[in-house]
Amino acid sequence: MTNNNADWQARSLASVWHPCTQMQRAAVVPPLPIARAKGPWLYDQEGHRYFDANSSWWVNLFGHADAGIASALKQQLDTLPHVMLAGCTHAPAIELAERLSARTGGVLGHAFYASDGASAVEIALKMSFHHWRNVGQGGKREFVCVRQGYHGETLGALAVTDVPVFRDAYDPLLMRSHLVASPDDRQAAAGEDAAAVAQRAAADLEALLAERHAHIAAVIVEPLVQCAAGMAMHHASYLQRVRALCDQHGVHLIADEIAVGCGRTGTFFACEQAGIWPDFMCLSKGITGGFLPLSLVLCRDAIYRAFLSDDVARGFLHSHSYTGNALACRAALAVLDRFDTDDVLGRNAGQAAVLDEALAPLMAHPGVEHPRRRGMIWAFDVKVELAQGRFAEAFHLAGRRHELLVRPIGRTVYLMPPYVLDADLSRWLSERLQATLHDTLQQPDADRAHQPATA
Ligand SMILES: *Cc1c(COP(=O)(O)O)cnc(C)c1O
Repeated sequence: MTNNNADWQARSLASVWHPCTQMQRAAVVPPLPIARAKGPWLYDQEGHRYFDANSSWWVNLFGHADAGIASALKQQLDTLPHVMLAGCTHAPAIELAERLSARTGGVLGHAFYASDGASAVEIALKMSFHHWRNVGQGGKREFVCVRQGYHGETLGALAVTDVPVFRDAYDPLLMRSHLVASPDDRQAAAGEDAAAVAQRAAADLEALLAERHAHIAAVIVEPLVQCAAGMAMHHASYLQRVRALCDQHGVHLIADEIAVGCGRTGTFFACEQAGIWPDFMCLSKGITGGFLPLSLVLCRDAIYRAFLSDDVARGFLHSHSYTGNALACRAALAVLDRFDTDDVLGRNAGQAAVLDEALAPLMAHPGVEHPRRRGMIWAFDVKVELAQGRFAEAFHLAGRRHELLVRPIGRTVYLMPPYVLDADLSRWLSERLQATLHDTLQQPDADRAHQPATA
């Protein structure tokens, strides 16, 4: 086996179709061949390290190869790696469902398991529609989603997603849904605060629900942060207003906490900051600490009970082969153990304050606008006149040269680091980000298309 990066990159490009990648462009931005990872660090085949500033697509919580999660998994591996969840059950699936329900004060429960975030969204959409049908309101079959929202890329999830790059090519295949204004607080007019933007956006939903509620099954939202939109943040009062409108008009509220759950925004669930509970909650990504794919949907008891019947067709029908995988559930239990015993949220608040201070010079850079943070998510936008051409790609490649794995979204640069920061790492991160920004802005647009093949 070779430990030459270029060899692995060539073999990967010849054999693997990478996600979220224009494969023609992958020759210019070859995938980093990662050989191993520990804590926040990824190491390539040649031993170079990279700080995983986006927690590997927002899934990692406590660093890579975390010893606590790994040892829980090793035990589970020798006991019960997997058994089908139709007709069988097992302790990890049961305990995880119980403990997550307890974290909602028992408001939500009956975890329905799947493996990926998009599948959880599919499940919530189907459950909502089927619930209404079971209670004699089969006409409620439309869904409402928020502008620039992201809920995954299977056909149902994509139909409630409003990110053109993921959606446009497949649009002819998608069911129609209603789009309402985003509460993104960057839209504040002069003298307007985030709460006012939130109320303005909620008024758009109010108008739609007043007219169409008899046809609408559910509204789906990303609580507090629309991550894929470019870490668009909003005031918690938006969620309170949406909850009230859904109650008033007899429409379900689906909270997609796939990215924002598991402490990412400062509370275990983002909804807690608004003091509301949805009718369905989708979880995935961080729930296994970034070890294994797992997703799940929690719902209210009244919804669950509407499916109970002698009639098979009134039961919820949606199955995946690996539903409730025992290893994945065990990893999730190890994650919950950490939250229970380690004051993760309290420590994160301390880590965030330290990184805030370290990032202050960067956030004050004249090329930067809308500096923002919610919990363990930091973001800023590079001014549009400076971020022409292939800005995100150029920033990413410059980041590699400074030992950073960063993937800006458009002109939004963000950090969603594992929960392992300290003062030294925060200072280092800030210096490297500043150097990366400096290099990217130095480089004329015309050169950006001619980046060297390896960084
Ligand atoms: C990532 C994400 C999804 C989709 O999850 P996958 O595991 O990638 O299918 C859905 N909703 C939100 C908010 C996400 O961030």
